[in-house]
Amino acid sequence: MDFPSAPLPTSGLSHAEVLERLAQLKVDDKQWEEGKVFGLVYDAGKAHHELLRDAMALFEAENGLNVLAFPSIGQMSDDLVRITATLLGADDPRSGGEVAGFLTSGGTESLLQASVVARDHARARGIDRPTIVCATSAHAAFTKAAGLFDIEVIRVPVGEDYRVDLAAMEAAIDERTAMLVASAVSYPQGVIDDVTAIAALAESKGLLCHVDGCMGGYFLPFLTELGHCQVPFDFTVSGVTSMSADLHKYGYASKGASVVLYRTPALARHQVFMTEDWLGGFYASTTMAGTKPAGPIAAAWASVMHLGHDGLLKLTSDTYAAARKIINAVVAHPKLQLRGEPAMSVFAFGAEDEAELDIFAVSEVLSRSGWHVDRQRHPDSLHLTVHAGSVKATDAFLDDLHAAIEEVGTRRTEDRSTTYATGD
Ligand SMILES: *Cc1c(COP(=O)(O)O)cnc(C)c1O
Repeated sequence: MDFPSAPLPTSGLSHAEVLERLAQLKVDDKQWEEGKVFGLVYDAGKAHHELLRDAMALFEAENGLNVLAFPSIGQMSDDLVRITATLLGADDPRSGGEVAGFLTSGGTESLLQASVVARDHARARGIDRPTIVCATSAHAAFTKAAGLFDIEVIRVPVGEDYRVDLAAMEAAIDERTAMLVASAVSYPQGVIDDVTAIAALAESKGLLCHVDGCMGGYFLPFLTELGHCQVPFDFTVSGVTSMSADLHKYGYASKGASVVLYRTPALARHQVFMTEDWLGGFYASTTMAGTKPAGPIAAAWASVMHLGHDGLLKLTSDTYAAARKIINAVVAHPKLQLRGEPAMSVFAFGAEDEAELDIFAVSEVLSRSGWHVDRQRHPDSLHLTVHAGSVKATDAFLDDLHAAIEEVGTRRTEDRSTTYATGD
């Protein structure tokens, strides 16, 4: 439905009218509660959302810009950073025992900040216009960072397994290189790069190494505990200098919470902005924002405190089982091909033979029955983020997927668009 744009009312709407209008505005939004939206929303159940809403409401007006005025926000942020650091190996002696970090508003901000830190770390060594070397599979946010911060991002190819091509990465390193990037897991195909090798390469050249755990940071540690992940990806790996992990993905927090961590406080300090060079007095901040919403911080704190270790382990276990069920069905289907070997619950698949099946035509049929799956190119693929809310819909999805493939046959669609993020 298209609404006329709403002008500022001369006399304001009542509380009830506002809520009514907001409810109307939502009519075309995806109905994620049924588990049909693979991505964008991470759903640990109705009661969990009620807790998040209550926590957000308690901190609706507070401002995270000043934790002297609101020490609660500083405390919650510290707790979340500590909890995340512990999950990612900070208490292991191999980490060096000094991991420090910050709460940010999301994965993108965590990566932007890690990129700025890499730039300033390089500048301190006299490198004028530093480069970050990452694979084509690394998140788009690194390219965003390049545009914003006068950094050059060099993208190297992935191998057939969609993991960083190490030889290409090594060849891209030169005297301007500040940082190498590994993903655990990558967003597009959900694979874990060879973190040990990339970090060792960085270390041997005196470079920083960021592991993007935005997706995997709150999943892989539990998967490891469950025995389904055997590769190291965190601060226990020598040469890893920073990591990011999104609370608002598999931490089942409300939107607006992620953590960025550094192996040492000296590195972390590059992220702190301070100035007195204006008329407003001493001003310091640790992230992009000035005024900072406290609601998402409280909701993230509520989420991990309520779920606890056992809750997160259970959600990981259930989600992984559901994801494997879909992955196994994809592998078993003669017309489908899994892209790479996904390590957790995020993966992509497409046609085994693109002349025989147009996977985008399949996605059109699926979206008519209310499913939301992302589309990717190179090669044409559908992308699924399976989360706890998807578990109940897994069988129905597989039925509809099989039926859609039948229905499509060899028909192709004109629409080749891909839509992970749309702008507005
Ligand atoms: C989601 C994601 C990001 C970006 O996080 P946002 O919270 O969307 O800003 C970065 N890296 C990876 C691997 C991701 O999955």
